[in-house]
Amino acid sequence: MSLFDWFANRRKSVPNSQERPEREIADGLWNKCESCGALSYTKDLRANQMVCLECGHHIRVYSDDRIEQLIDANTWMPINEGLHATDPLKFRDRKKYSDRLREFQEKTGHLDAVETGIGQLETLPVALGVMEFQFIGGSMGSVVGEKLTRLIEHGTREHLPVIIVCASGGARMQEGMLSLMQMAKISGALERHREARQLYIAILTHPTTGGVTASFAMLGDITIAEPKATVAFTGGRVIEQTLREKLPENYQTSEYSFAHGFVDLIVPRTQLKKTLAQLISLHQPQLSLGRSQSEELEPPDTHVFPAQTHAFELSP
Ligand SMILES: [Zn+2]
Repeated sequence: MSLFDWFANRRKSVPNSQERPEREIADGLWNKCESCGALSYTKDLRANQMVCLECGHHIRVYSDDRIEQLIDANTWMPINEGLHATDPLKFRDRKKYSDRLREFQEKTGHLDAVETGIGQLETLPVALGVMEFQFIGGSMGSVVGEKLTRLIEHGTREHLPVIIVCASGGARMQEGMLSLMQMAKISGALERHREARQLYIAILTHPTTGGVTASFAMLGDITIAEPKATVAFTGGRVIEQTLREKLPENYQTSEYSFAHGFVDLIVPRTQLKKTLAQLISLHQPQLSLGRSQSEELEPPDTHVFPAQTHAFELSP
């Protein structure tokens, strides 16, 4: 029996009834709110940015929808869209990592778990990264790390505020140590961005956990969370089993993090764009003064950086 089989068997024997139900994306004509049970037209929900009209529950959205919600129409320019993982460890769990990657690429239409680019937010130029939870749980591997690092470096060079919308189960185990290295790499890039006196805003959405929480999600000059999002490092069950203590009721939520000073603002999705525009204008008043001219954004740097690892490559 391999070590993996042993773990898989062990896991089967552990009842996981305590797990919270996973939020699903509404794609049908109607959507039943998993929080209050209200039935709504998906069209009406979309008009309200997928926030339940009855109870305010924030339904999960795709990264493309997030970009549409935050960035002014026809101003989005993606950066490094062609980066994809190469599976240098030849990792295999229940299936080959390379097969898993292909499967998620087909399912989501994206090469990996983050979209990065530049665009205008209420005419203010920003560098934006949005994690895609539907792609292997938004896990952070070498591509997520590299794309975010390049985005932040682009922001530093071009004096742009950086916004990262986090949604992640943590580091990507199929890339082992290469995943963990991304935490330091992104944090280093953020520090250089800070030294250049530029603004970085982290947005925590459901769920923001693991290595993402332990790095760039918690390094924002301003940290914003969506209401009732799970914000955690380790899963609650693991902590309870380790400490042999019951955790507080709303532990690992936006509200708990806010009450304990880890989050600066809890902003409903419908108010997010406006709030971001206000914060950026406060930080860079000269930008908002020149807004009326609606200056053209420089196209993103297409320069190919020397690869620090061989864990990813650019598509031809
Ligand atoms: Zn509801």
